[in-house]
Amino acid sequence: MDFRLTETQRFFREQASQTLTRLAPKAEDIDRADEFPLDVFRKLGKLGYYGIRYPAEIGGMGADCVTFTLLAEEIARVSMGLAAVVTMQCLMGTDFIYHFGTEAQKERCLIPAIRGEKIATIAFTEPDCGSDLGSIRTRAVKDGRTYVITGRKMWITNGPVADFVTVAATTDPAKRLGGLGFFLVEKGTPGFSVGQKIGKISARGANTAELIFDGCRIPEENFLGREGKGPEHLNNILGEIRTMIAGLGLGLSKASFAAGLKYAGEREAFGRTIGSFELIQEKIAEMEMRIKASEFLTYYAAWLRDSGASTGKEAAMAKLYSTETACFVADEVTRIHGAYGIAEEFPVQRYFRDARFLLFGGGTSEILKTLIARDTLKRNRPSAVI
Ligand SMILES: Cc1cc2nc3c(=O)[nH]c(=O)nc-3n(C[C@H](O)[C@H](O)[C@H](O)COP(=O)(O)OP(=O)(O)OC[C@H]3O[C@@H](n4cnc5c(N)ncnc54)[C@H](O)[C@@H]3O)c2cc1C
Repeated sequence: MDFRLTETQRFFREQASQTLTRLAPKAEDIDRADEFPLDVFRKLGKLGYYGIRYPAEIGGMGADCVTFTLLAEEIARVSMGLAAVVTMQCLMGTDFIYHFGTEAQKERCLIPAIRGEKIATIAFTEPDCGSDLGSIRTRAVKDGRTYVITGRKMWITNGPVADFVTVAATTDPAKRLGGLGFFLVEKGTPGFSVGQKIGKISARGANTAELIFDGCRIPEENFLGREGKGPEHLNNILGEIRTMIAGLGLGLSKASFAAGLKYAGEREAFGRTIGSFELIQEKIAEMEMRIKASEFLTYYAAWLRDSGASTGKEAAMAKLYSTETACFVADEVTRIHGAYGIAEEFPVQRYFRDARFLLFGGGTSEILKTLIARDTLKRNRPSAVI
C-alpha cells in the first residue's frame, strides 16, 4: 500500500496550483459579474488543461484520472465558476466526441476545444426530468441518413456560449434508458437555439441556460456511440464525472477550511482567540477529519479507475462524501466567521454558495445513496430482491 502521489502527479499539482493561484484575484470578479470568463478560459486552453485526459497526438496531456482529480481540486480552491467551465470542457463536453466522433468531427470540434478555441457542453437534463434519465423526452427520429432532434434541455452549463453540444435524446421512449443515445449538435444548425439563461447563486460565471431543439436535423454520423449502448456509455462517463466532482468538493473544502483556520487564529473574543475555545476546536477537528476522509475516498476512486477496475460504487461514495463535506465545511466556516461569514468582502460566503453547486450533477446525494446501497446489497446478499 502506497498513499503517495507519483513524482509526475506531485509536479503537475505544484505547477497547476501556482498557475491557478495567480488567477485567484479574478475569482471575486467572475462571481460578481456572472459572465462567462472568456479571457481566463482562453488562457487555460493555451496551457493545455482541456486536453488533460486526451492523448498527445491530438494536443492532450495524456494524464491519468488521479492527475485530473488534482486539477479539479486545485481549480475549485480558486473559483467554482471557473471549475465548472473547465471541467465541462475537459470531460463532459468532449468525451463522447473523443470516443465516438469521426475524424472530421474531431478536427472541427474536439481539437479546437482542447486548444480553448471552441466551447463545449453536454445536455442531459430537461425541464421535467433530471435524475430519471429513462424519462427523457427529447426525441431523435431517424429520417433517411439524418436524425431529427426535438425537445428542450435545462440547466446546461456553458449553454449560452457553447459552439457544440452533446445532446442526450431517445430513439425509442418505450425502451426508457435502453433508447438513450448521444448526438452532436453544432451551433448554427437550423432548429437549435438557446432559451432563457438561469440566474443562480452558485458557480457564477459558468452560465446555465435552456437549449431548444425544434426539428433540428443532423447527419447520421452525429450519433455518438452505438445503438442500444447508451446506458453503458453513460455509466462509463459517470464514473469519471463523479470522481472529478469529488475532487471539486475536496478543493472547496480545503479553501474554506484554510479561511476558517486563519480566522480562528486571528479573531478574539473574551480576551482570547476564538480558536482556543473548545467548541471551535471541535469544529476544527471534525472538519479536518472529514476532509481527510474525502481525500482518501476521492484519490482511491481515481486510482481504481487508473488501474482499470470498475469504480461504480467507489466513485459514488467519493462524490457523495466529498460534496457533503464541502457543504458541511463551508457552513461551519461561515459560523466561525460570525457575522463576517455573510459579508460580501469575505470569500467564505462564496464558498458557502458554491458548495451547493456540487450536490446535483453526476447524481444527487439521494441517488448516490441508492446506488451505493443497491451495489452493497447485491454483493453481500445475492438472493436479495432489489
Ligand atoms: C449549476 C448547475 C449546472 C448544471 N449543468 C448541467 C449540464 O451542463 N448538463 C446537464 O445535463 N445538466 C446539468 N445540470 C442539471 C443536473 O445534472 C441535475 O440538477 C441533476 O441531474 C438532478 O436533477 P434535478 O435537478 O432535475 O432533480 P430531480 O431529479 O428532479 O430530483 C429532485 C429531488 O428528488 C430527489 N430524488 C429523485 N429521484 C429520487 C429517488 N429515486 N430516490 C430518492 N430521491 C430522489 C433528488 O435527490 C432531489 O432531491 C446542472 C445543474 C446545476 C444546478
